Amino acid sequence: MPFRDICGQDRPVRLLRRAWAGGRLAQAYCFSGPTGVGKRSTAVALAQAVNCLSPVGAPSGEDTPDACGACRACTRIAAGQHPDVTLIAPEEKTVITIDQIRGLAARASLRACEGTAKIWILDPAHDMQEPAANAFLKTLEEPPAGSLFLLVTTAFSALLPTIRSRCQEVRFTELGEEHLRIVLARHGWDAADAAAAAAAAGGSAERALAPDARERCAARAQLVEEVWSALGSLPALLDQAERLAKDREALEDALEGLLAFTRDAAVAGIGPAAARCLAAERRANIARVTGAAPLAAVLRVHAAQRDAQQALAWHAQPRFAAERMLLRMRQAIGRK
Ligand SMILES: [Zn+2]
Repeated sequence: MPFRDICGQDRPVRLLRRAWAGGRLAQAYCFSGPTGVGKRSTAVALAQAVNCLSPVGAPSGEDTPDACGACRACTRIAAGQHPDVTLIAPEEKTVITIDQIRGLAARASLRACEGTAKIWILDPAHDMQEPAANAFLKTLEEPPAGSLFLLVTTAFSALLPTIRSRCQEVRFTELGEEHLRIVLARHGWDAADAAAAAAAAGGSAERALAPDARERCAARAQLVEEVWSALGSLPALLDQAERLAKDREALEDALEGLLAFTRDAAVAGIGPAAARCLAAERRANIARVTGAAPLAAVLRVHAAQRDAQQALAWHAQPRFAAERMLLRMRQAIGRK
């Protein structure tokens, strides 16, 4: 996937394209940020750009250049079969071992076989065993000419400080819903399903595309509806609090869903111009579930939900956090 197909990560992509076009690439980068937002795809895009046999666009042209995506080098890199581009991932899904790093060090000292540079993508880089991390540090301290190291991580601070200081960090952010919708559409989702799944994905394309995404999305929508309708009566509200608080992890997940819905409700409440970024169906659903609550009320609901999330992070009792949140939501929308 060349740079032009990376969705919603304009800033990191621009930075890397410019560095590459200007011949100013660092020897090691660390792509940090949440899961499923395009870090590894960007690493592959950079590997393609560096080794592409016929890059498109010229450095002096209007566009920064990019890999063609179609030549022998690009297709082999995309398929994980290029001799100069190696993905180092945990063996047996646990950790990156010292043997893998020794292999990397031995091969990094050789010249590139076919491409311009030998590229190593370590993903997830924070899953290196300590001996492996120390061995990797030695390679970074005296990096072989013509090699480029791309570390990919969701936990930049978990890397050895000495490794961090030798990599240029490139931060990736959560994907906006409009970008998630584009990614889902590319995978053949229709517009309505894509909009709902994008709203429930918490900014992660990986989550949006997970096999259980459709069910999770439906379950989340149902939960949001149950919670809002329980605000109408105090006994129903207390019942709902009890159900929500049965399991701390499920409550955390529920809060994410409730917050995503409330954020949309706030956008819908700002005014018609802002609301247009939500699909018409979603706007109608929001109005139905919230009883067309005004923006000020929605913002108070949001504050109650954020506070509950914070309280859980500080190890509050789930039952207490859930009850307090629901009571505040009820008050916010003016139910006595
Ligand atoms: Zn190419």
